[in-house]
Amino acid sequence: MNALRVILGDQLSLNLATLDNLDPNRDAILMMEVMEENTYVGHHKQKIVMVLAAMRHFAETLSKRGFIVDYVKLDDPDNTGSFTTEIQRAVLRHRPNRIVVTEPSEWRVLEMVKSWEGLTGLSIEICADHRFFASRGRFAAWANSRRSWRMEHFYREMRREHKILMDGDRPEGGVWNFDSKNRKSLRADVSLPKRLRFEPDPATREVMALVAQRFGEHFGQLDTFGWPVTRAQALEALQDFITNALPWFGDYQDAMKTGERFLYHSLIAPSLNLGLLSPHEVCSAVEDAWHEGRVPINAAEGFIRQVLGWREYVRGVYWMMMPKYADANTLGASRPLPDFYWSGKTDLHCLSEAIKSTHQTAYSHHIQRLMITGNFALLAGITPREIERWYLAVYADAVEWVEMPNTLGMAVFADGGKMASKPYASSGAYINRMSDFCKGCSYDVKKKTGSNACPFNYLYWAFLIQNQSHLDKNPRMALPYRTLAKWSSEKKVSYLNEAEKFLTSLNSGQSS
Ligand code: SF4
Repeated sequence: MNALRVILGDQLSLNLATLDNLDPNRDAILMMEVMEENTYVGHHKQKIVMVLAAMRHFAETLSKRGFIVDYVKLDDPDNTGSFTTEIQRAVLRHRPNRIVVTEPSEWRVLEMVKSWEGLTGLSIEICADHRFFASRGRFAAWANSRRSWRMEHFYREMRREHKILMDGDRPEGGVWNFDSKNRKSLRADVSLPKRLRFEPDPATREVMALVAQRFGEHFGQLDTFGWPVTRAQALEALQDFITNALPWFGDYQDAMKTGERFLYHSLIAPSLNLGLLSPHEVCSAVEDAWHEGRVPINAAEGFIRQVLGWREYVRGVYWMMMPKYADANTLGASRPLPDFYWSGKTDLHCLSEAIKSTHQTAYSHHIQRLMITGNFALLAGITPREIERWYLAVYADAVEWVEMPNTLGMAVFADGGKMASKPYASSGAYINRMSDFCKGCSYDVKKKTGSNACPFNYLYWAFLIQNQSHLDKNPRMALPYRTLAKWSSEKKVSYLNEAEKFLTSLNSGQSS
């Protein structure tokens, strides 16, 4: 045996560096399903199904191409439960002269891989992951050359460097960002597209049965599973998005509606993060659709910014900041995560809708994550690590490198502004503007305090009062702090008391 080539669960791409120069007659490809990876947080059942089913389908593709594939299933009787012990067993089976692996996407797994050399006595070749626009080194060069990191600046460099939506040296459409056009709320009479979901095939159904048996107590509904698990399905989902949702994605990307889970969102992040799609082909397909006149510029640019800008930026931040990033807690938040994040049982209608969507589909869209579940965690002072682990567990697309900066940096401002220029804190007014949730809520979004006042309202002001020393020098927070400066001490104390009473009742189970 020559090389043992290891492919991890989010590396399901035929052009992965691990497969470069592979000798089909002498090299073996090792893929491992292990308990440890499915339980280090209690992942949503659909997320486990998606990863394992996609891995099994990918292994089949590799076998059909004539490669030697050693696939360790979760229910193999000899499965030892961790990557590290499985690697040791595989070395005994194959007697390779080296191990080849593409750099893991997660800091924790990279540390594990580095330990394999000492455990096996073999050299470990860790290849760079070419599936991103910016290598880790490219991002570090950008980040080290400036005092503050702002996604918008990085995004413009990426646009220029990769010549995406560019007219020579100028952005197509004359401006870099069309966000001012992208904040429409959804009128009740707008009919939404039916989104493509995939009926599980026998191999996926086998995994669903395994997950029901092994992970029955994990969060989330299983029988509504419909995520792509093959490259062909992922490509179909991409085309469905471009044709049926992208034209309106820009307009309504921040809108929310009761009972509507997907609206005009792409639903391709899980496939991108597994490796079934590449960000390059996704951006090209969207740019082509704009050139062909099938989608407007505000939709194409808004979407490409998410992939070429935001996704690459958060990956860069993750690798620059780990491992200390995981413990970031600039605002000193320390309340436990309320039980309703798991049970969905809350009378705050917006939260109940976001969590219900998460439970049913392993998905809620970015504004529900940022401005509802994230905003509440920020205002309520939930310990960042607790809400971060929740996001990691419950979303189909949640891989730590993308989820952690989005949670700690963007949603709960735990890094003190390394990533976001201000905390995304808001009262109920924003939720009311962008959704129909408040109409069906037992709280009154117009009421600032008192019985049945929307909790987001008094929590927002209490948050600003409590964190004044951290935030009042931030120019983007000047407006609310000018308002607060006119408040009497009594008024401030009454908001603080009301917030404290509400939060205490949450934690003691007396409310919601
Ligand atoms: Fe959420 Fe407040 Fe609106 Fe109720 S009234 S849905 S709690 S924002």
